[in-house]
Amino acid sequence: MPFTPRTHAPRRLKAALLASAVTVCLVAASAPPAPLGVGDRLFPHLGNPGYDVASYDLALTYSGENDKPLAAVTTIDAWTTARLDRLNLDFARGKVRSVEVDGEPAAYATAGEDLVITPAKPLSARQWTRIVVRHTSDPMAGKGREGGWVRTADGLALANQADAGHLVFPCNDHPSDKAMFTFRVTAPEGYTAVANGLPSDVERAAAATTWTYRTHHPMATELAQISIGRSTVVHRTGPRGLPVRDVVPTAHRERLEPWLAKTPGQIAWMARKVGPYPFETYGVLMADASTGFELETQTLSLFERDLFTDPAFPAWYVDSIMVHELAHQWFGNSVTPRDWSDLWLNEGHATWYEALYAQEKAGRSLEARMKAAYRASDRWRAAGGPPAEPKAAEAGDRLGIFRPNVYDGAALVLYALRQEIGRRAFERLERAWVSRHKDATAGTADFVRLAGEISGRDLTGFFRGWLYGEKTPPMPGHPDWTSDAAAGTARKQPTEK
Ligand SMILES: [Zn+2]
Repeated sequence: MPFTPRTHAPRRLKAALLASAVTVCLVAASAPPAPLGVGDRLFPHLGNPGYDVASYDLALTYSGENDKPLAAVTTIDAWTTARLDRLNLDFARGKVRSVEVDGEPAAYATAGEDLVITPAKPLSARQWTRIVVRHTSDPMAGKGREGGWVRTADGLALANQADAGHLVFPCNDHPSDKAMFTFRVTAPEGYTAVANGLPSDVERAAAATTWTYRTHHPMATELAQISIGRSTVVHRTGPRGLPVRDVVPTAHRERLEPWLAKTPGQIAWMARKVGPYPFETYGVLMADASTGFELETQTLSLFERDLFTDPAFPAWYVDSIMVHELAHQWFGNSVTPRDWSDLWLNEGHATWYEALYAQEKAGRSLEARMKAAYRASDRWRAAGGPPAEPKAAEAGDRLGIFRPNVYDGAALVLYALRQEIGRRAFERLERAWVSRHKDATAGTADFVRLAGEISGRDLTGFFRGWLYGEKTPPMPGHPDWTSDAAAGTARKQPTEK
């Protein structure tokens, strides 16, 4: 459903506004600029209060050199939820050249990783506002602050999860504020640009081309993708006529084709499990990059090309990783986490379908994998926290919050749940979850509530242990399963927290 920003407020905003009749002034104009956040336990300065973004329009000009800043204009249409003397955006890597609010020049300052904007006139609550920021976007990583632009052998791609969208463009960088996106990317001749959603325009000039893409569903900033490279876009048709397009380095196009051909079948498999594919298109972006991870950027998942061409990776494993990123389109993208502590809902489900696919298509036992996860679970909880209460990222740790406790450790929670409520109720729950919260945000409490509703049981005690317990509860149906003691971690605890 395309969103039309200036005519009416989003439904969820209306509800929130009705609930709070009092207008609050968030920041006194005289206070020094300070970074703000929306109260995420793991990322206190991520997101900003007082407004809800309806749409982003990002215009970027690429020079042809991926170590040089891009020229950029970010236009944000937002609905204010409070009176604002000031308004914060998250933005941390690039120079700001000017800021306009509703057509008037606005003052701005930097505080931490926030861009603090003071409009000429305060914004009243419950109004549309348009913010235009002219800036650069720098693909060169800051020291100890990775993420955002990924420099590939032939250009650039994006990897913003979890907290790096604002290293690319000014935004309200939290998954609880989804918005529509338009991307306009200008690149020199010989390059191809692709972004989330469907193409809406191509303008070819003498030495450069501008590609325009639009999302047809709301998206979180962490899921934005912009690929600029010497690439070929390969088109095919998926289930129910879904347009599938993959983006591959032109030099490897033929060698990669057998992998690309798998996507429609994988989409059909996922749709049989949980319901129709939730977006307007899908495809894989195979980038010549060494990120060390793959990423479920919305409608166009990012993969390292090596995964498909290095013979060290068995085919069943590569297939299952493709399904992992695909499953995220339902779990994590269409239904986004309300808070980063809900990450287990993304990764637990993606890991679950990854493992289920490997079992059904390659005979890799899900139960054996879950038994191994059970054995490691107490150690994972000691190192990373319980699945729904993960520890914050430690400085310099590349894994960040993406530890085994939210992958196989969280898939183990889903396995325990299936053991507890039975396969049929579990499968109903999965389908209901992605259909009820489609294009929205939802958190752990919503999942617990829905599981209770579908199974007709009060599962709060069950989930308390499985999601928040320091120790892994006994596995229903497998009383013989044991978890190895978290040897050595007890002593390390004081320095970790
Ligand atoms: Zn994942």
